[in-house]
Amino acid sequence: MNCRKADVREIELKESKKCDKCNKKAIVFLAYGPHNYCQSHFINQFEKRFRRTIRQNNLILKKERIGIALSGGKDSTALAFLLQKYFKFNNELIAISIDEGMPGYRDKSLAFAKKTCKKLGIKHKIYSFKDYFGFNVKDAFKKLDSLDIGNACSICGTLRRRILNDSAVELKLDKLAIGHNLDDESQSIAMNLFENDLVRLSRMGAQVGSGNNDSFVPRIKPFQSTLENEIEYYCMLNNIDHYFGECCPHSSQVKRRFFRIKLAEFESKFPGTKYSILRSFESLKPILIKSFAKKISWNVCQECGGPTNSSNVCKTCEILNKLKKAKIIKKNKINKKFK
Ligand code: SF4
Repeated sequence: MNCRKADVREIELKESKKCDKCNKKAIVFLAYGPHNYCQSHFINQFEKRFRRTIRQNNLILKKERIGIALSGGKDSTALAFLLQKYFKFNNELIAISIDEGMPGYRDKSLAFAKKTCKKLGIKHKIYSFKDYFGFNVKDAFKKLDSLDIGNACSICGTLRRRILNDSAVELKLDKLAIGHNLDDESQSIAMNLFENDLVRLSRMGAQVGSGNNDSFVPRIKPFQSTLENEIEYYCMLNNIDHYFGECCPHSSQVKRRFFRIKLAEFESKFPGTKYSILRSFESLKPILIKSFAKKISWNVCQECGGPTNSSNVCKTCEILNKLKKAKIIKKNKINKKFK
């Protein structure tokens, strides 16, 4: 998880303005409208957009079992709050948290995740790198710098997504909801474009994974059209308690951070830029899918039987093989499917 502080430039308190919808004092100013909202109308438009994203993309159908990837940060906590508010009667909700093994960081965010689930009455499952792969990030990543294996985030992110997916399969979930927001989405689109990775770009969307592979649970993004700082503001106005402490000490997402800063500059100068990036991508997506249809289908990993869309061996096995070779992890400690 990349811990981020919201950029507050696009939302400011304007003491003297009136709400666009009523005569009350506006407390939220959204530059891209521009819109001025009082508390209840801001909350109203925020929740409307959340529900519209779900409805327009068919993200959640009646009776589906929905997992929530819950880190304890603002995005996933607001997601749990809203899913419980609007879907608790027609859907079973189960929160899943991953403990990568980073004392002083993940243990604190997990404490918030536990509290959230207790408060909302949502079932909560926690899985750890230690139980699944036999190592924790704190010990293993100390040795990474001297080895040519990849950076901490690419290793950690791949392994975490794999545990999330496998646990969602075991729990027989239909979909896994993640707190990915418009800032994340516009950064990923721009990065894939700048890297000329159109195959990866064509796989993006409000729902990732077609659901035609039993070993893969589709991931859904109800906040795909919602700015990160609006989520922070929504949490504040609804007293949604979440982790906001130190960022992960192993964060190595240098490139993403650069895109994040540059897009924030664009958004500040030209409000609505992030949303325009998303809309442009959505217009291009049908063409991309048509062009790369063969390359975006799922294969089965020859080593673990899990899903892979890159080669015959999935990214998780590739990483584990390298970590085993470098003696960072021991074969007998890994979940038996990866041996
Ligand atoms: Fe997130 Fe990177 Fe830290 Fe893993 S190592 S928790 S991906 S910031």
